[in-house]
Amino acid sequence: MSGISNQINRGKIYLVGAGPGDPELLTIKALKILRKADIVFYDDLVSPRILGVCRKRIQMVYVGKRLGIHSCLQNEINDKLIQASVEHKTIVRLKGGDPSIFGRVGEEYASILQAGISCEIIAGITTASGVASSLGFPLTHRDYAREILFLSGHKKDGVNTDAFQNLNCIGKTIIIYMGLNSLTLIASELIRSGNLPSTRIAVIQNATLDSERVFTGNLETIESIVTKNEVKSPAILVIGEIVRFYEEMKFLKNGCASILSPV
Ligand code: SAH
Repeated sequence: MSGISNQINRGKIYLVGAGPGDPELLTIKALKILRKADIVFYDDLVSPRILGVCRKRIQMVYVGKRLGIHSCLQNEINDKLIQASVEHKTIVRLKGGDPSIFGRVGEEYASILQAGISCEIIAGITTASGVASSLGFPLTHRDYAREILFLSGHKKDGVNTDAFQNLNCIGKTIIIYMGLNSLTLIASELIRSGNLPSTRIAVIQNATLDSERVFTGNLETIESIVTKNEVKSPAILVIGEIVRFYEEMKFLKNGCASILSPV
């Protein structure tokens, strides 16, 4: 990075949220920036249909997990963004969902501003909101959940076990990003913390995309359901009574209203 800040930077870097997958969940602001981008750095969770809104023949640079992202590579991404600002006017770093939620945007934002380059964060719809509307349930409900918790299943050095110890799920909607691989541990920690094994949980793969899959169960059964159905990443976990609300609404949507509330 040395020396770059001394060069004449003419570009501006936009850290843009791509939403959870469905291109129609892109914000108008994100769409406008993508349409004028000269170069786009994107990662795994950005669907090809979203990349398709960019102008033809611009540079598209993949910087996702298949390259084995770790803190060192994160520095390389920061450097690439800064270097791109020397050669291009509109530089986009496109991230799944909302870049400000488990998106490492803080690290990129700080390094860009420290290099003296102009930078703006463009919000995206986070997977939690996308999944709620796609499945048909609210994240809060006066009778089911007055609090929402967004948790990561991972932290820098492994599973985020501490987050699930002494966590009481009653009255909360708990959304766990990056939790699929630690599902067994999360469920057992929650039971150990005093939550009923019958606490409802949903696992949603490919939320908001045509390939979306939803599985529901409880803290005791969910692991075998997920294994049996070979659920793969990206998947998000939703825990709490709101899952029961979702199941009830699904029942109604399927035309069973007359059974629930006979006239
Ligand atoms: N910034 C993103 C989250 C990035 S963390 C956001 O606001 O949504 C990456 C995690 O997000 C994945 O491991 C998965 O848990 C979740 N995720 C992202 N896209 C998803 C999708 N389409 N379906 C299900 N989960 C998704």
